Amino acid sequence: MKRRGLLIILSSPSGAGKSTLAGRLRAWDDSLRFSVSATTREPREGEVDGKDYFFVTTEDFQAQVGAGDMLEHARVFGNYYGSPRTPVQAAIDEGRDVLFDIDWQGAQQISKSALRDHVLSIFILPPSIPELHRRLVSRGQDDVETIERRMQKSWDEISHWDGYDYVMVNDNLDETEERLKTIISAERLRASQQPALMTHVRMLQTQFEER
Ligand code: ADP
Ligand code: 5GP
Repeated sequence: MKRRGLLIILSSPSGAGKSTLAGRLRAWDDSLRFSVSATTREPREGEVDGKDYFFVTTEDFQAQVGAGDMLEHARVFGNYYGSPRTPVQAAIDEGRDVLFDIDWQGAQQISKSALRDHVLSIFILPPSIPELHRRLVSRGQDDVETIERRMQKSWDEISHWDGYDYVMVNDNLDETEERLKTIISAERLRASQQPALMTHVRMLQTQFEER
């Protein structure tokens, strides 16, 4: 039966594991779409334009915001980030879920938008602050100053944990993955995600009345 797609928002302080978990979710269900954000920050080594982000100028970014093309947008670490609206709307209309890796400001905006009935927001907490630091170091992606900046910013993100539908501590990776899959599977069955139910129930009613 055709259903509507969910907007699945994953937020966490940097290093808590959301990219790793998003990758596992996409391996689990390849119909999941990833919302590719636009950003004014410089690409990092290995990042691909159009896949990791749409790398745009500040002028282009502001023009898109002005035209209403962003579902949400925010300034993070001194750069602008935003989620383009059109691909999200197309995916959920086709019944595909869309994953967002965005910060608390974006999560709040989408949760208040016209699409709010289709939002599933999840916050990932680290088991401890030393473990968060260890993960940032072990990822091997950032220099010492960048890691320190991310650690400084982590409390700002963590302090918004209670604005989310679900919160989980990413201690054991396999367990967190299983919990995420359980939540997504359950949320897909929300009545508001299944507009085709009405037709099915009408068919049941006809059969009931004709028996
Ligand atoms: P984020 O996307 O939130 O910044 P990442 O997914 O890049 O975080 O994870 C940061 C680092 O921590 C990566 O090296 C990843 O392999 C590791 N990691 C993620 N989850 C766990 C976990 N539950 N236990 C141990 N290491 C983890
Ligand atoms: P990074 O520059 O490390 O890729 O991302 C920095 C932060 O920006 C992360 O917390 C990430 O979740 C957030 N972010 C990425 N894209 C978006 C977006 O489109 N909107 C918002 N609000 N935050 C974003």
